[in-house]
Amino acid sequence: MKLHGNSIINESSHLEIGGMDCVDLTTVYSTPIFVYDENLIRQQCRRFHKVLSESGLDYHISYASKAFLCKEIVRIMQEENMGLDVVSQGEMFNALSVEFDSKSIHFHGNNKTPSEIDYAIKNNIGCFVIDSIDEIYKVEKACARAEKSVNCLLRLTPGVEAHTHEFITTGNEDSKFGMNIDNGEALKAFKILIESEYLNLKGFHFHIGSQIFGTDGTKAAINKVFDWMSSIETNYPFKTEVLNIGGGFGIRYTAEDISYPIEDALNDIILHLKESSVFYSIDMPQLWLEPGRSIVGEAGTTLYTIGTIKEIPGIRTYVSVDGGMTDNIRTSLYGAKYEVAIANKMNDKATELVTIAGKCCESGDILARDVKIPKAEVGDILAMSCTGAYHYSMASNYNHMPKPSVIFVKDGQSKVAIKRESYEDMIKNQV
Ligand SMILES: *Cc1c(COP(=O)(O)O)cnc(C)c1O
Repeated sequence: MKLHGNSIINESSHLEIGGMDCVDLTTVYSTPIFVYDENLIRQQCRRFHKVLSESGLDYHISYASKAFLCKEIVRIMQEENMGLDVVSQGEMFNALSVEFDSKSIHFHGNNKTPSEIDYAIKNNIGCFVIDSIDEIYKVEKACARAEKSVNCLLRLTPGVEAHTHEFITTGNEDSKFGMNIDNGEALKAFKILIESEYLNLKGFHFHIGSQIFGTDGTKAAINKVFDWMSSIETNYPFKTEVLNIGGGFGIRYTAEDISYPIEDALNDIILHLKESSVFYSIDMPQLWLEPGRSIVGEAGTTLYTIGTIKEIPGIRTYVSVDGGMTDNIRTSLYGAKYEVAIANKMNDKATELVTIAGKCCESGDILARDVKIPKAEVGDILAMSCTGAYHYSMASNYNHMPKPSVIFVKDGQSKVAIKRESYEDMIKNQV
């Protein structure tokens, strides 16, 4: 297992994160737990800020809170000068519960409900990312009722899709998100927006995918969008103040992925934006970014206790842990790969080929297929790295499994950010 951030192997041959011995953490907090390296989260925010502040551009970075959200994360984002992207009233509520500046919240989603829209307007959310023509009318009505106007961006579908190392351009993109440039829907929405009494159109947004390595897809989308912006700025009395290019920066889950050089990628994108602005004679808009995974992904590690080891001779050995698809759905959902280690045997040779299974009643509840670990024994602590993004936030109560607790570690201190769910918590809404 590659050690991320402030992780080391300590004198007891234990995994140590943020100055805390992981085996000790499991003694104090039991298992399963998510351990977050707070300094690594802050460091990732600062890497984005550094490149952008040196670029000379006006910019704003939002953390895409769907990757992992809790009060402690909101506080950290506030301290690190990050905005927040939310996709629901629940995420807004969580952010506002610790008095996050509502002006720095951006509201996304392809089906914002009327009550969510009212809630966002009432709380002076900084920006709506408009996703459909229906939504324009809904927001307009809500604004009229509240006698307030709102800032917005129009989400575009640039016909570019990126997945890890490849990107594809598609003519008419089949996506539930955004308004299509090619088929004229984006223009239709734009025309309604510039006539709107209450919606203040600031510019445009696109997000072409997640876990992306390389900048070709983003640059292709920038070309497409600048071309479009130049045609509308020629034909309508409109000036693009903001261009939001989404998130999607890849992280290193296993040796198959690279440790993505965010600085190089951002500089490449920024250069391309500056060149496009000259080429299309468009004043450089403010650059907005919304990374999620790259902020918290590598900072999270899950610790489990190994409960059973079952060897099926000639087939495989199942090492089962006290969590599973309830705290990590990504393996069963899309075959995600991970690196694992035994946190109390970090210096032992990884000699055994095993499959790590969860404890849920689904044969598909596998956490890592065919991984090498040292000889495991019941009671060992299994560490799975890179579980900081889209794990806790996708956790479920399948099989009535309580959601694990989340522990933040930093400089030799640990604290509970989210308590383990109790059985009482799980049944409290039942009547
Ligand atoms: C999910 C999402 C992001 C964040 O994506 P990451 O891959 O986590 O960086 C940003 N913007 C939008 C619109 C998204 O849907």
